Order: sequence, then C-alpha cells, then structure tokens
Amino acid sequence: MPVYSIPLRTRFRGITVRHGVLLEGAAGWGEFCAFEDYSDAESAPWLACALESAEEGWPAPVRDRVPVNCTVPVVPPERAHAIVAASGCSTAKVKVADPGSPLRDDLERVAAVRDALGPSGAVRVDANAAWDVDTAVAAIRELDRAAGGLEYVEQPCPSVAELAAVRRRVDVRIAADESIRRAEDPLRVAVAGAADVAVIKVAPLGGVRRALAVAEACGLPCVVSSALETSVGMAAGLALAGALPELGFACGLGTLSLLDGDVTTDSLRPVDGWLPVPVRAPEPDRAAGFAADGATATRWLDRLDRVRGLL
Ligand SMILES: [Mg+2]
Repeated sequence: MPVYSIPLRTRFRGITVRHGVLLEGAAGWGEFCAFEDYSDAESAPWLACALESAEEGWPAPVRDRVPVNCTVPVVPPERAHAIVAASGCSTAKVKVADPGSPLRDDLERVAAVRDALGPSGAVRVDANAAWDVDTAVAAIRELDRAAGGLEYVEQPCPSVAELAAVRRRVDVRIAADESIRRAEDPLRVAVAGAADVAVIKVAPLGGVRRALAVAEACGLPCVVSSALETSVGMAAGLALAGALPELGFACGLGTLSLLDGDVTTDSLRPVDGWLPVPVRAPEPDRAAGFAADGATATRWLDRLDRVRGLL
C-alpha cells in the first residue's frame, strides 16, 4: 500500500503537503486521505469510500462526462479574467470575503470574471463562512449586481440558522458547504430551509452509494466537490457526479491543479471545462515518485489500521 506525499501549489486548510494511502482490491484502486486533523471516527467514512472503490466498484453512471468549474482565488481583476479565460470552463467559482480584502475588490473580481465568461456563463462565489447575517445580505446584493447575476453563494455564514436567515432575505441561491461534513448534515440543512444547493463530497459521506442515498434523502440539488484528492480519489467523486439522477450545476472537481503532481499518468485534468466519468480509478503508476518518508508512511499505515478497526 503506497503512502504518498504531494506538495500543494498554495497553502490550503493550513496544510502545504497532502498525504494519503492508496489501496488496491478486486475492483481496482481507492484512496484514503482524510485530513490529518480528523479523528479516527471522522475518518471512517473516508476509508469506506476508498474500500468501495478498491473492492466493490461503483454503480453504473447515467452520463459519461461532467462539467466542472474553474476556481478564482483572491487575485486582482486582470488575473481573475486571465484564469477564467484560460480555463475553458463556463462556470467560475470566485473566492470572496477573504480577511483583509475589502468588498470593493471582490466586486471588481466578480465583474472581471463575468466579462471573461460572457453572458451565458455562471458565476458563483464562496465566502467560506466569513460573514454575519447583515454583512452577508448587503454583500450578496452588491455582488449579484456586479456579477450580472450570481448562480449561488456558497456558505455565506458559519451556522445553519444564519444560512436560513440570509436565505430569507436575498434572491440569490444559498449553497451549504462547510455545514455539510457528515451524512446527517444535508438533511439538517434541508429541513432548516438553510440552503437551495448542497455541496457534497464523496469521501466524507462514505462512498458513492452512501452519497447517492444522502443526496436523495435531502432532496436538494447537489454540487459534487473534491476533498483535494489525487486522481485516484477524484475518480470516486466523478463516479458520484456521473451517477446522480440530476446534475444541474458544474462540479468542483477540477482541483488536481492545486497539487504539485499526481500519482498516475492518467490524470483527471479538465479539458474545455469537462471531465470524463471513469469506470474505475486510474492505476497509480507514478506513486513511487511521491513516496512518503518512513515516519509519515508508518503514521498513515497505523492510522489506516485503527480506522479499519472502526468499520
Ligand atoms: Mg466551499
């Protein structure tokens, strides 16, 4: 079982290197890469997802490719325009509400993104829970105007109650992301009237079958996003996006470019804003080049053993 270490191109969630374990079973490969600050119990669904890929395989897809969004970080408008134009995507997700960056900059960034996409493109923004309710309501109205219409705003505030309060006061769709980390969360969000869209990730929800059941139970349109996997783990996210009965929004699965390398030559990098739905995870034929050092490998294999004991 190869344990990998791959540097991130930019710091994300406070980490600069991504680690994980690649597992091989009768159905192919799976990836276990729960973030290291997750407890063993929180990591158990991630391992269930990896084992589904490796041992069982996925349900048959209903589509053979899925659209993905490009991601625009906190950059000046000219750079934002260039990122979107180069991506080939017709949907852009724009980071807003970064600490120390004024709303005026966010407005210029989304206007530049709209200009790059043209009128038929979709602009969504992600505030990563940075606002209180009143700030969110005011900012969303202005951003919606500057963007010539927003597709949705992702996680404007931290709590489910705040999301519901914002949703009652703005016309723009609200998407829940950070509020959805466990299988029970999408249902909670839906019942509270807190969101119009659920951002779902296959690994924290315990695999493709489990995530499909969660999506059906919550009754919200879903956007499938990654958890910063290599192409091996990303394939499971694509299997989910491929099997969802409805896929009304571009997926957040174009994230391989955030890693400074990949464990396979068959990398799942978007072409013109689309990714194929694979039948199984690609073979990790380059994993040796990213082998973790001995101490890291031991730590991860111990963790794998402990979490396996919980399943
Ligand atoms: Mg988000």
